[in-house]
Amino acid sequence: MSTGSSPGCSELVLWSEPGGEGALPALAAGLAELFPALRTRVGGAAAVPPASRAGGKIDAGWFLREVMPEGLQVLWVVEGELASGVHPSIAGAAAGRGAVVSRAWAGEGGVLLGVAAHEVGHLQGLAHCGGRCLMRPVHSRAAARTRPLRLCRRCRAKLAIA
Ligand SMILES: [Zn+2]
Ligand SMILES: [Zn+2]
Repeated sequence: MSTGSSPGCSELVLWSEPGGEGALPALAAGLAELFPALRTRVGGAAAVPPASRAGGKIDAGWFLREVMPEGLQVLWVVEGELASGVHPSIAGAAAGRGAVVSRAWAGEGGVLLGVAAHEVGHLQGLAHCGGRCLMRPVHSRAAARTRPLRLCRRCRAKLAIA
């Protein structure tokens, strides 16, 4: 799937489950700072369809296939845990124009912003990066807490960010 837009430039709408909308304005502001060509806006809160849940967790793949509206880049912040394939608990996932992040995994503040920004980086066309960079993959909260909340020079160049 292609995002169909030029790298780094587009609009992103943020949604949450009911109860999580308080986190959205700060997230939108933080993401706009990290991705200067991205216009961010808060959409609102909506319930996640029960069909996306398996064993009490949200299946990230199902969610990204079925819940994302057409034609918009969307970041969903869900309250519960996300599962993906063999992984019982993931921080977030992105596919095509949609990304989803788990507040149960990321909590609040810097880690939540970092996890959200990493997935938005994927929406913007960035792959994983081995540098001291937001696009470095992490597999634990401890690693997420020490990952820099910034893109490295190489990733910034890919998005034409000065
Ligand atoms: Zn990633
Ligand atoms: Zn990088």
